[in-house]
Amino acid sequence: MKKRIAVLPGDGIGKEVTKGAIEVLQAVGERFGHQFYFQYGLIGGEAIDAVGSPLPNETIEMCKQSDAVLLGAVGGPKWEHQPAHLRPERGLLKIRKELNLYANLRPTSYYPSLAESSPLRKEVIEGVDMVMVRELTGGLYFGKPSKRTRKNGEDEVVDTLYYKRAEMERVIKLAFQLAEKRKGKVTSVDKANVLESSRMWREVAESVAKEYSDVELEHMLVDNAAMQMIKNPKRFDVVVTENMFGDILSDEASVLTGSLGMLPSASLSEAGPYLYEPIHGSAPDIEGKNTANPLAMILSAAMMLRLSFGMHEEAEAVEQAVNQVLDAGYRTKDIMTFGKKDASTKEMVEEVKATL
Ligand code: ATP
Ligand code: MG
Repeated sequence: MKKRIAVLPGDGIGKEVTKGAIEVLQAVGERFGHQFYFQYGLIGGEAIDAVGSPLPNETIEMCKQSDAVLLGAVGGPKWEHQPAHLRPERGLLKIRKELNLYANLRPTSYYPSLAESSPLRKEVIEGVDMVMVRELTGGLYFGKPSKRTRKNGEDEVVDTLYYKRAEMERVIKLAFQLAEKRKGKVTSVDKANVLESSRMWREVAESVAKEYSDVELEHMLVDNAAMQMIKNPKRFDVVVTENMFGDILSDEASVLTGSLGMLPSASLSEAGPYLYEPIHGSAPDIEGKNTANPLAMILSAAMMLRLSFGMHEEAEAVEQAVNQVLDAGYRTKDIMTFGKKDASTKEMVEEVKATL
């Protein structure tokens, strides 16, 4: 197959880990006979420095014409005190909007060889295999905010939790489609005992569930979900929820099985292209030191192979290579434990390629 991949390395360690993931993709191409064409675009602080905008139009156009987008990370102390329109993070919000990415998927799975890096006991996390599906375009983060001071001098502020039924429907459907291919269970998280939006969310989940007879649906209140995630994470398969609940719960889920440096994500739209990025940021504290963990980015590339290109065998080969490298004891600093082999970013990438 021939595929066009838009690559946006961004800032800080984004550049280092992106380079590693590209090398791994090239190795996949060679082994399986695919041709991947990489086109590079500017985003974030790098783009601000080069052309005065965190997301130039050329980057947007290039992404729209690609089969998938691979993004490193944006931001850093250098741009922290810029005016709002010149902040690297603006570039990230804008590319999500331009590509209509409405669902963010974050898988969390158990790596036996990393059990010691988790804050939870091995018995609790052994076998964890879940995907968080977070709605990305609606909810409190996009509702019209307002602030005023009343005549009596009292300050008032309002944020609005706004959703259209169709926005709920498409993300919940996606969760069911995922569950169908996994363990067949969807946990829909809401606060239906208090919020009107959550009552509609629940109603939509019920009606979508009728189209997927082989998927089990359970409803869970968000406070309980936050607790269950720690107490018994194995009970979850696909978890779907609105924007803010998803923001909070996906960070919670990410610490279950280990380091930030291990976790990939995918953001999906109706028509594509989808965008893949590690969940970690640009990590300015370790930039340029060749110590960043490239595995989150490499696993994001594996998600791209599977979800955007339908290359299941290829994706599995990458994931297995990552597992084998960990089993063989190679560790970047963030996942280092006693007695393991210290590996740099580049060495880790080399090991994954050699294993492939
Ligand atoms: P952002 O706002 O962009 O998410 P952040 O400050 O919240 O950034 P990160 O940039 O992800 O967070 O970094 C948080 C900490 O985790 C830092 O100390 C960083 O060094 C470490 N870290 C993040 N990603 C990695 C990685 N891939 N490998 C090793 N350490 C990492
Ligand atoms: Mg962060």
